[in-house]
Amino acid sequence: MPVLMVALASVCCDAVAASPDFQVEERNVLETSSLTATQGQHALTLTLANIGGWNDAEIAAAVNTAAGILAQCGVRLTEAELLRIRVPGSHRDFDTPRSRELARALPLRKPAIYFAAGTRQRPAFEAEAIGRGNSRTRPELTDTVWIIHGARDPGIALAHELAHVLMDSGEHDNTPGNLMAEDTTPHNTRLTAAQCARITTTGSRNGLLRPGVD
Ligand SMILES: [Zn+2]
Repeated sequence: MPVLMVALASVCCDAVAASPDFQVEERNVLETSSLTATQGQHALTLTLANIGGWNDAEIAAAVNTAAGILAQCGVRLTEAELLRIRVPGSHRDFDTPRSRELARALPLRKPAIYFAAGTRQRPAFEAEAIGRGNSRTRPELTDTVWIIHGARDPGIALAHELAHVLMDSGEHDNTPGNLMAEDTTPHNTRLTAAQCARITTTGSRNGLLRPGVD
């Protein structure tokens, strides 16, 4: 699938360079084939924060896959802004106290996906989602997803974690083929009507989805 990066030179970067430790080095609009989809009543805008040295094509591929999966619920990715953020080495991994510092110093439009180098969390998950229900002690991280470089099937993992955020639920469904099975595999991509309803209803109520303009 064609993946194209379009640089918006004029908007980079001082306005969001809130901290000398955390600098937005580059800001692009990500254009993927999923953005040209015309189906979907629920518009999703994503902020993609590259803090872990991912390359743009890896991010674009993951986002494209995730958008394709969420499309079955009528969710349409309408905009994706890709920020390359320079952070100290100590902040390249997902690590609750340090990640909170980053998110506080450089607030991003939500939902925000952080493409991290690794994780210092234990247990060490390849991807994690922080919704409303599990952010009380870390409010800066509300409505964010953290995914580590080298995660298996990053597009599927991203769709799974985004679904957790949109549903504001940590529930799993181990029915074969379901996206919300605990194990992320290329075969687990389907969402039930009830899961889609929760994604669109809760996601809209929490301001993460907007009415589409078909
Ligand atoms: Zn999960």
